[in-house]
Amino acid sequence: MSQAIRSLKGKPQTPSTYIKVQGPRVVQYWESEATRPKSFQGASDEGQSILSQCSKSQLQHILHHPFRSPEEIRREQWERVRELVTLAYRDIPVYREKYQSVGFSPDMLQSWQDFEALPVITKEELLAAFPEGCVNPRWSVDELFSTRSFGTSGKTLHIKVDMEAIIKDTLQGVRQFWMQSGLKHRASHRTAMIYTVPWWFDTVGDDFPSVFISGLIPAAQIIDILNDLKPEVISCYPTTLKSLLPYVAQWDRSQLYVAVVHSEGSTPKERQQWAQILGVPVLDEYSSEEATRIALELPCGHYHVCDDAVYLEVLEANSLHPVPDGQWGRAVVTNLLNEAMPFIRYVQGDYVRRPEKPEPCLIGWSQLASLEGRMNDSFINKEGRIVPAGSVLDIVYRWMHDGGLYLEDFEMIQKACDRIDVILRPLKQTSVEKIRSSREHLQDLLQTSLGHPVQVSITVPEVFPRQPGKRRLIKRAFAL
Ligand SMILES: [Zn+2]
Repeated sequence: MSQAIRSLKGKPQTPSTYIKVQGPRVVQYWESEATRPKSFQGASDEGQSILSQCSKSQLQHILHHPFRSPEEIRREQWERVRELVTLAYRDIPVYREKYQSVGFSPDMLQSWQDFEALPVITKEELLAAFPEGCVNPRWSVDELFSTRSFGTSGKTLHIKVDMEAIIKDTLQGVRQFWMQSGLKHRASHRTAMIYTVPWWFDTVGDDFPSVFISGLIPAAQIIDILNDLKPEVISCYPTTLKSLLPYVAQWDRSQLYVAVVHSEGSTPKERQQWAQILGVPVLDEYSSEEATRIALELPCGHYHVCDDAVYLEVLEANSLHPVPDGQWGRAVVTNLLNEAMPFIRYVQGDYVRRPEKPEPCLIGWSQLASLEGRMNDSFINKEGRIVPAGSVLDIVYRWMHDGGLYLEDFEMIQKACDRIDVILRPLKQTSVEKIRSSREHLQDLLQTSLGHPVQVSITVPEVFPRQPGKRRLIKRAFAL
């Protein structure tokens, strides 16, 4: 792998240097050599070859899945849900105890009603059970892929994923862009992923190349990179996309046919406005680390639930009984891919609504009418440049990833342009000293994004402060 250090053409007040890392299959752009994680590793050669083989044997089936009949899809889901419940009861203590406590055993699972009567599981329960109580003993923890989830709560759940699930997820990712592009996506087409850390696979064999661009790189420089790459697809946070719009006149979008936004809330109206400015559709992806893809906004105009990745239920917030179609409820998901750390009737927490009457569509996947967005504040630098909330979220993820930090609760507040307060509670395996000693890295990451020095102070209170209403992890304490 060779590295080329590139100097920036950007404005003098943002003196940062992004770097390009290039290998035979890999193209990655990191915000700076100094802050780039030295430990990040993609999938092994063996993994690459398994993915290539699976692509040959499974991709057709995966591409065809959304066009099956709703009945066929439902039948397939039922088989998978039964397998997962049986597996969880047999191998995963947190589920076995939960199911035994209500007198349930897998032979009693005869209908969807039986499944929907099973107790739900929450993030807190999985946090308490991690790792022995919730990771499948079929694998040693070290041989599994790791990811983590903040969600809307600020509590960080560490998630272990098996290779087969990652491979299916990767191939379903190919299908996602194929569907969201209106079936334009081809094996030679390039995707730019502006995000926290790269996905484990940068290609599928030699096909579907995806280029990682660190979300910490300032917007003007991201535009330079995109002009070099000319990707057909970009995928990023909505706030990242928003930060690119002022540069639209300098941005060569001749190859681009779709922009996908995810992880944060954006309204249909905002996406339409951005689509008008960009001249290509801007479509939403509703996903979570726990569930992978939950629903996709597709060119037919509907949100369709990815019914081979998740089984989605919409339940009343307190009673956890199913709500009638057309009414808002909490998303409760069963991940149909991951056997290493199963999520079965997991309370995702977002509010979603099924349509009262689904519109007729060629796509057999079930539909969502709407979902409630996840909102965070953007930061602002001394020159008045906006650093999107997505970038700030990336900084937090990167800080935890690079420093191996395990946090229970977290909040970051920009008090002034150059002053940032962090309030957090570490999990027991992370000492307060470890947090304090990695403060400088957080400061460097923030400085790279803001373009000037910042002072970071970290507070570790005994009890995490609670506020009423919807939690924001990233806040700005002053107006624009
Ligand atoms: Zn549709």
